Amino acid sequence: MTAYDPENIFAKILRKEIPSFRVYEDDETYCFMDIMPRSDGHCLVIPKTPCRNILDATPAQLAACMATVSKVANAAKAAFNADGITLQQFSEVAGGQEVFHLHFHIHPRHEGVSLRPPGTMGDMDVIKSNAEAIRAKIDQ
Ligand code: 5GP
Repeated sequence: MTAYDPENIFAKILRKEIPSFRVYEDDETYCFMDIMPRSDGHCLVIPKTPCRNILDATPAQLAACMATVSKVANAAKAAFNADGITLQQFSEVAGGQEVFHLHFHIHPRHEGVSLRPPGTMGDMDVIKSNAEAIRAKIDQ
């Protein structure tokens, strides 16, 4: 398996070398908004320690991420009055992965509304206010 690259964009976000809209963090995980949102409230949960994806993550990294996914998913569902949540995880190029630091996509979903296609930059003011809406529903 290819080695973890500490210059990947999410590692830079963790080091605060590039900005992000924070939703939640604890000692082990960080949650922030996706800047090309495929749903309103699309956010990402990552471990603070390095791993590429589901194939090299430790049980402890996965457990920490899932605890945060659960917390944020419930908050996002409430914030957007959603009917459900889609959780996505892509591993390696063949699996659809583009950024090689383990991440879980959280999408609030409404019945009959499809995910938007990937790759379109969102409106930063909207993304910022969506982050605030989710944060407001998390009891920390
Ligand atoms: P993947 O296909 O690797 O699961 O998804 C990577 C995700 O990272 C995509 O949804 C993309 O929109 C998001 N992304 C790429 N670059 C940045 C960035 O600089 N900041 C943030 N917040 N998200 C990013």
